[in-house]
Amino acid sequence: MKYYSTNKQAPLTSLKEAVTKGLAGDKGLFMPEKINSFTPEEIASLKDKSFHEIAFMVADKFFGEDIESETLKKIVKDTLSFDTPVVHVNDNIYSLELFHGPTLAFKDVGGRFMARLLAYFIEKEGKEEVNVLVATSGDTGSAVANGFLGVPGINVYVLYPKGKVSPIQECQFTTLGQNMTALEIDGTFDDCQALVKSAFMDQALNNHMNLTSANSINVARFLPQSFYYFYAYAQLAKEGKADELVFCVPSGNFGNITAGLFGYRMGLPVKRFIAANNRNDVFLDYLNTGIYTPRSSVSTIANAMDVGDPSNFARILDLFSQTGNTYEEIKKLITGYRYTDEEIADTMRKVYSSYHYLLDPHGACGYQALVDTKLTATETGVFLETAHPAKFKGTVDNILNQDIDIPKKLQEFMKGEKQSINLSKKFDDFKKYLLDR
Ligand SMILES: *Cc1c(COP(=O)(O)O)cnc(C)c1O
Repeated sequence: MKYYSTNKQAPLTSLKEAVTKGLAGDKGLFMPEKINSFTPEEIASLKDKSFHEIAFMVADKFFGEDIESETLKKIVKDTLSFDTPVVHVNDNIYSLELFHGPTLAFKDVGGRFMARLLAYFIEKEGKEEVNVLVATSGDTGSAVANGFLGVPGINVYVLYPKGKVSPIQECQFTTLGQNMTALEIDGTFDDCQALVKSAFMDQALNNHMNLTSANSINVARFLPQSFYYFYAYAQLAKEGKADELVFCVPSGNFGNITAGLFGYRMGLPVKRFIAANNRNDVFLDYLNTGIYTPRSSVSTIANAMDVGDPSNFARILDLFSQTGNTYEEIKKLITGYRYTDEEIADTMRKVYSSYHYLLDPHGACGYQALVDTKLTATETGVFLETAHPAKFKGTVDNILNQDIDIPKKLQEFMKGEKQSINLSKKFDDFKKYLLDR
């Protein structure tokens, strides 16, 4: 399978190139040249299959031409050592719980898959070590770090802003050791991101070491997220509840919902999608006006969705551009909602007291959008619960006036000893550090 750039100014490239580069030479995002569909028979067979089997069927449609079956099966199996259950909340609303992986957020799926795919390419070609640089404001760093932990041939450097990630998030990437190095930068998240970008442009550094990036623009990070849309369908089909599915996705960079849209294009029976936003609502503006106006992000209690210029918007436009009437086609399939911090908190309180279901601030946006969209009697709404509430324990405890339990997995991280290297936000210091490696 070849991959093209959304900017159409770069040559077609192989899967390996797309994964090891991340971004195309013309700064566009890579897209698979074709989207292989499921047959109606394959769709009908899903409800009798396991998560591994379903994920492999989906992975095979994307990567089957490039990776032999047994290897791909193993990559899928190693990625998914956890389940993504669909849990009934109330009426016809269900929660797709994506937080049962090692770092308790949905990014585990893409992070682990990408790590294994990259490791496969390195091993196959006997290439030298690859160094992955990741700037994080919290969740991405931990998922990527845990995904790549112990993978031979890969070193990971997580850059994070000193004092600006929650203590629980911080321990998830500072206590791991092995091939993980946490760099505590005296600056903001934007400073961390700027350091990473400068590193990719620095010739001396690139001569010294192989550098790559593991953020959500990478095809190996976002495509595997379509696995759990198919699995959610299968779980609900078993109960006869999948005839008119509405998927509602709490969105920031729009990688997660884009994976769902790929599923739809592959023939997954979905009636419509909802993108739920916090106050960072450029996508909702686009749905209302047809004009896309990126802006600076504002801070909210659903901080993983604090994105003012979602990178995967380019992929959504590209997916719908074949029809010639991009905006109308997008509006037909996707609606949007936005919520303030106060509204998010109200939803969390209401759902906890009425249905004893604990929402995290991101999932709360998804749940509320399914309430506000007024599902018909025949529709089934599924919101993606993107992180475990305990990852945001301070916020959640305050809102609910509770002392919520921290899952064992998180407690284990918190026992470890924090190891990090302090660096200033000056590029010269960062460069010198890497050159000494
Ligand atoms: C990353 C993240 C999101 C947003 O996902 P996108 O793919 O960037 O739209 C939502 N919730 C949580 C908890 C996240 O970590």
